Amino acid sequence: MKKYDLIVVGAGPGGCTAALTAAEAGLKTLLLERAVVPGEKNASGFALSSKAWRDFPFIREMELPSMRYCRQCVAHFLSPPPEMEERFTIASGPSRRMSYPEARDFFTVGMLRREFDPYLADLAVRAGAEMRTGSLVTGLVRENGKVAGVLLEGGEEYRAPLTIGADGVLSPVARMAGLRERWRPDQVTSVCIVDFSAPRERMDCVIHEAGFQAFFGPGLGGNFLIAYADGVHLGGPGVTNSLISRALRKRAKPARELLDTLLAPPVQRLLRALEAEPREWQAHCLTWMESIPEEISCAGLMLVGDAAGLTEPLYAEGVWQAMYSGRLAAEVAEEALRENDFSGAFLKTYRERLVESPVGQDFVAGAQLRQLFELLGDPVLCGELEELAVDLAVHLLMSGQEPKAEAMQRVFPVLGENLPALMAVARVYLPIFLRMGEENLRFYIGMAKGLRWMLKGLLPWEGDL
Ligand SMILES: Cc1cc2nc3c(=O)[nH]c(=O)nc-3n(C[C@H](O)[C@H](O)[C@H](O)COP(=O)(O)OP(=O)(O)OC[C@H]3O[C@@H](n4cnc5c(N)ncnc54)[C@H](O)[C@@H]3O)c2cc1C
Repeated sequence: MKKYDLIVVGAGPGGCTAALTAAEAGLKTLLLERAVVPGEKNASGFALSSKAWRDFPFIREMELPSMRYCRQCVAHFLSPPPEMEERFTIASGPSRRMSYPEARDFFTVGMLRREFDPYLADLAVRAGAEMRTGSLVTGLVRENGKVAGVLLEGGEEYRAPLTIGADGVLSPVARMAGLRERWRPDQVTSVCIVDFSAPRERMDCVIHEAGFQAFFGPGLGGNFLIAYADGVHLGGPGVTNSLISRALRKRAKPARELLDTLLAPPVQRLLRALEAEPREWQAHCLTWMESIPEEISCAGLMLVGDAAGLTEPLYAEGVWQAMYSGRLAAEVAEEALRENDFSGAFLKTYRERLVESPVGQDFVAGAQLRQLFELLGDPVLCGELEELAVDLAVHLLMSGQEPKAEAMQRVFPVLGENLPALMAVARVYLPIFLRMGEENLRFYIGMAKGLRWMLKGLLPWEGDL
């Protein structure tokens, strides 16, 4: 039986980052992965947020064949079935107001997990971690009421005062540790993906840097397209088919929704232009919660990434969260070893720090904002908002079909007609702003005063507003 300072179960983004951090800090670290090669089950790609470039120096060095920078996000709003044609489209580059340089340059980078996971695992190994692949963890060793190691299929035993469970959403480690039996139905969603390969030159020509595209529309859930160097995937349920709609059991048919989006003419045209060939179909379970679960550690054990339920509550992004929590757990492990304290009480500091960290901050208002997508998922409301956008943006500014003054005169009636839809949006936003505290409230009151002053200068009549 071999002994280590730290055992990490699972060589996904969370486990590899934990093992890398621990090995760099000089901990004798064992990284166990059930697959023969890390990331082997994922033929498909994913989008890594620019946050990873901000937070992890080793990511800045990364160059993988499948990488494609996404500097343009596109939201397609389609008309109702049966046409499902492009009705209103927004495309945007990154904002110059973002708080760090990478975010001002790009949104995400699309790439393949079967390249990314081995890249991270290799960094951990080069830092000194011992990796064992083809190693399925089937049990935990307990000693004096704490987790003291793991058992592999076949009976091998490894010991360490600390274990990190980075074994993904179904996390056998969490179950074996008694932290939970299984996720409740309202804590998870299912994600379906169809992955297509496409020649690189077609990708460069047709997609270029528009690596994230979402398809909204009456009855469509905002299924998303993610592009990498040699292909794209289309996934769903879209962000609009939120946890709330699942909880209310309104719409929970991700495969049906994905098929509808795939069959929409603009999507078909895009796939034809790409000369795309279907490569893989997947359906996965994914946690999608409103706050960080309470029980993510116990004596001798911490959970990171999907095992801890850390996917971000708006878009269900989870790779950066897994990496961030993996690093944090390894830092806490190092401190625990220094203090020789592996108690449940000491390891609770891991969750406390996580709540304070950018991962935790992302849970504030994320679930509430999800209600906006929920509105877009409502066929009637979505249709009304689409028409409002078309009337205000397109016909006012971009069409010469009518005299300008006539188009201008429609602004207030159109706003009036669509007041219920606008109020529905305001009903989501306002409580979020109010929750964000007095400081923000002051800011918005200041803005309203400024607007009043501007209008006073612009209006043709004298006097107060
Ligand atoms: C379809 C889909 C698309 C997604 N797209 C994105 C995206 O574009 N961007 C993004 O940021 N996030 C995305 N996510 C979320 C993201 O994939 C996860 O949040 C992320 O993979 C979590 O990383 P992890 O290291 O916690 O777990 P995982 O990546 O699940 O890694 C867990 C590892 O543990 C291993 N393992 C499991 N059990 C055992 C065991 N008993 N013994 C040994 N090893 C074990 C597994 O083989 C695996 O390698 C997507 C999720 C899905 C389902």
